[in-house]
Amino acid sequence: MKIEEAIRLSRFTTFGTGGPARWFASPESVDELAVALRFANEQEAGVAVVGLGSNLLVADEGVDLLVLKLAGELASVEVDGERIVAGGGAPNAVILHRAREAGLGGFEFACAIPGTIGGGVWMNAGAYGGDISQVLSRALVVSPEGAGWLTPEELGLTYRHSDLRHGQVVGLVELRLAPRLVVAIRAAVAELQAQRKASQPTNKRTFGSVFKNPDQELTAGRMLEACGLKGFRIGGAQISPKHANFIENADGARTEDAVALMVEARRRAHEQYGVVLTHEVEFLGVAEVPPVR
Ligand SMILES: Cc1cc2nc3c(=O)[nH]c(=O)nc-3n(C[C@H](O)[C@H](O)[C@H](O)COP(=O)(O)OP(=O)(O)OC[C@H]3O[C@@H](n4cnc5c(N)ncnc54)[C@H](O)[C@@H]3O)c2cc1C
Repeated sequence: MKIEEAIRLSRFTTFGTGGPARWFASPESVDELAVALRFANEQEAGVAVVGLGSNLLVADEGVDLLVLKLAGELASVEVDGERIVAGGGAPNAVILHRAREAGLGGFEFACAIPGTIGGGVWMNAGAYGGDISQVLSRALVVSPEGAGWLTPEELGLTYRHSDLRHGQVVGLVELRLAPRLVVAIRAAVAELQAQRKASQPTNKRTFGSVFKNPDQELTAGRMLEACGLKGFRIGGAQISPKHANFIENADGARTEDAVALMVEARRRAHEQYGVVLTHEVEFLGVAEVPPVR
């Protein structure tokens, strides 16, 4: 495993923005992951993982961190009866494919979540009433202090949240699925993907839902739409004309353009509805959304 320097992170994010990581490595086993974490410890550097970068805004200036992209055994998928063992870097799409081949259902909800299973555990990703906590038996979390298997309860999985912190890496997961006819899995996935395509900008560079849905009747998307924000643009980023809780990289956007749009969206939602929207997207580096004034 090589530890490289100054690798641009924009190519690892679906939004396509972000500056370089001070250090970058692709560990392929739990042992290599431990070596990488020890390196960061020696350098007194923070550590973060990029999965498929589908929920990630990286600071334009880059990040003073060791950034890890899991590979090899840490991105592989094995089916064992009704159990799936996958590396934290395994894409949901590959897990779903292997589950379908094996006639295992329960992971269909993830067909519309274009990330890795490790990124999914990080924020208990979910859609259409399903989420990672419902299929996860346990996850191997590796940190500078050592490695241990944690259950969904121990991970603190709730709505789009876990208690994980940067430096704790989901190296492996065990999923528990249930037998289902392959044709039924195929039909369910086709139906969910059609619903997605009809309502969300699936063919644009986005980072998924910008804000979590508030505890209100109106979703964040409907609220921002009612604030007249569809199509609103700052720099190269625009609020999706199709769904107001998505920001598209319309033309050479920078992370700061997306953040400026988020600040404006939160200001308007607060002004019109008295609601303080909280972001679902994760930040790496100094990018952040300041409090609503
Ligand atoms: C078009 C589109 C639609 C989407 N729809 C949904 C949806 O319906 N539901 C939903 O929940 N999300 C959705 N998302 C958001 C995103 O796909 C999910 O949050 C996904 O789980 C992120 O996984 P990732 O591998 O891309 O993580 P990244 O975006 O790479 O990282 C997200 C966070 O997880 C951390 N992380 C990643 N891997 C690990 C690991 N192995 N160990 C520890 N931490 C890790 C990162 O450090 C970061 O903090 C959508 C995104 C897009 C672009």
